[in-house]
Amino acid sequence: TTRIERHHYDVVVIGAGGAGLRAAIEARLAGKKTAIISKSLFGKAHTVMAEGGAAAAMGNVNSKDNWMVHFGDTMRGGKFLNNFRMAELHAKEAPERIWELETYGALFDRTKDGKISQRNFGGHEYPRLAHVGDRTGLELIRTLQQKIVSLQQEDFAETGNYDSKIRVFSETTITELLLDGNKVAGAFGYYRETGEFILLEAPAVVLATGGVGRSYKVTSNSWEYTGDGHALALRAGATLINMEFLQFHPTGMVWPPSVKGILVTESVRGDGGVLKNTDGKRFMFNYVPDVFRRQYAETEEEADRWYKDPENNRRPPELLPRDEVARAINSEVKAGRGTKAGGVLLDIASRLPAEEVQRRLPSMYHQFKELADVDITKEPMEVGPTCHYVMGGVEVDPDSAAAFGHVEGLFAAGEVSGGMHGSNRLGGNSLSDLLVFGKRAGEHAASYTDALVKRPKVTTSDVESAVDAALAPLSREGGENPYQLQQDLQAVMGDLVGIIRREGELTDALKRLQELKLRVANVGAAGGRKYNPGWHLALDLRNMLVVSECTAKAALEREESRGGHTREDFPKMSPQWRLLNLVCSLDDTGDVHLERKPVPRMRDELIKLFDRTELSKYLTDDELAEYDAVVG
Ligand code: FAD
Repeated sequence: TTRIERHHYDVVVIGAGGAGLRAAIEARLAGKKTAIISKSLFGKAHTVMAEGGAAAAMGNVNSKDNWMVHFGDTMRGGKFLNNFRMAELHAKEAPERIWELETYGALFDRTKDGKISQRNFGGHEYPRLAHVGDRTGLELIRTLQQKIVSLQQEDFAETGNYDSKIRVFSETTITELLLDGNKVAGAFGYYRETGEFILLEAPAVVLATGGVGRSYKVTSNSWEYTGDGHALALRAGATLINMEFLQFHPTGMVWPPSVKGILVTESVRGDGGVLKNTDGKRFMFNYVPDVFRRQYAETEEEADRWYKDPENNRRPPELLPRDEVARAINSEVKAGRGTKAGGVLLDIASRLPAEEVQRRLPSMYHQFKELADVDITKEPMEVGPTCHYVMGGVEVDPDSAAAFGHVEGLFAAGEVSGGMHGSNRLGGNSLSDLLVFGKRAGEHAASYTDALVKRPKVTTSDVESAVDAALAPLSREGGENPYQLQQDLQAVMGDLVGIIRREGELTDALKRLQELKLRVANVGAAGGRKYNPGWHLALDLRNMLVVSECTAKAALEREESRGGHTREDFPKMSPQWRLLNLVCSLDDTGDVHLERKPVPRMRDELIKLFDRTELSKYLTDDELAEYDAVVG
């Protein structure tokens, strides 16, 4: 028999980014014995890579800001498809979560009068992103880890064991959730280094596994983002929503090829950087869509004045939401006004003094210097769209973060969850999302375990199946090569389910995904269980595949263009489609099933925050009539 290390916890948190750490802190504070599992090294998660900042309407730089404005911006950015309750909770609770981080030891950049400084970002009406230069995520992770260490020290003082109440399992990948009927009973996985198996029995699991970008050729995401949490949720009987909505960040590096996709933070534009085509023209003025026309400057002069005098001028179109900017760059390059490597130019050098660039954007300065041999204080950067963030994810109850579907004891927070950002996420809204819903997930996972009458049990046969599935690629001689399969998948998703989509290509993509599914079922890995990345990838592939199928199916179904989903054959936003979420689940045979489900209706006091002219661009006539009745 295969050796399996067994542990018992109350709450198991899968993922050690911001959402996972915040959830774990909350569960431990509620007195639960908590485990944190991380596929990568502890401290290495996307959260640590976040540059721009965390959006929270603290009103430190412009006192007109408040949760209602933030809520409005978030709904607008998501093109009104957001789960309104999540957007509401997020806008209301983000400031508290940021201030709380200070009590954990966070040191944000300050205003002259000593408050937490806030910077401008695309789609945010007022300066709203709390930041630490362009290394905000690092500070977030640092302080959350510090909080965990301090809790472990308290536990040590009491029990003589640092790990007695909260323990971190790093470089450990979860491959399977185990159920007792429809209740979560545990999680199964392996240590990456030794290949040894681990079983964590627990009645509550919080998924905080981040994104799916590794299914795309050009992406800002790192190796561990293979949609594991999304797939684990599906296989456990939970549902995913909005998987057609992927954010292609407008500015990734495009040159040299080895670094293609690496993110160039939006702060470059927030701090004054402008986009130009190879004719030297600031082209974004040509791409302001009607729905945003009133809020954006029409001339370069007005746009430039806005940085100093936002009261009397409108914002530059470089700060439109990301989907708009990404499509604009795509069009410029297609029209032959891009660089040889397929990008456009992002210029901060001619806009700010060199010292100022180095002070405000130290990481960007080093990134370009070291990776591309470009001095951004002297030359423009070459940039183009890169697959960055998935708006879709586990369908959850907004207040408790509990997963919907046929499973109990499963919670999801952060990028792996869906709904909050609608069809497009505003920059800076992720870091705050992690804190707000990470806390909620931890709290509700804890209270869920309190309410259980009987602890769910893991069955031996489920554990054996998990072991067999994990070992299968190692025993398949002459199986398919996992690296080749990943490349083929990336080509299908990048070429056929990318930034601009068409019916024929999506149908083709689905056919190819079926072919890939058969090949993935036959994936093999040479070598043994000790640190074997080929084996690890072989196990990730089935997750990537099922999640990609959800994306392609939903993208084919949604016949409109909205946020992170652009259909060339249906270029307009449709008010009828705004009423619908697309929900994926797995049927008994493991095939992806897609269902249309109504978007929850916004509460009256919230819809009143918008004016009719704006809403008329998004809502159906029936909805507008309801609005008129509400407003009276
Ligand atoms: P992550 O931080 O992605 O953490 C996921 C964790 O899950 C990791 O620990 C990983 O190892 C673990 N994991 C995954 N699968 C498994 C498994 N099977 N078993 C065990 N562990 C697993 N957002 C902003 O708001 N502002 C910004 O300025 C910003 N800048 C960004 C810059 C870059 C380069 C990138 C890539 C993203 C940026 N984002 C930004 C987005 C934001 O960083 C992410 O959306 C967010 O950090 C996701 O946090 P998370 O806690 O959900 O997951």
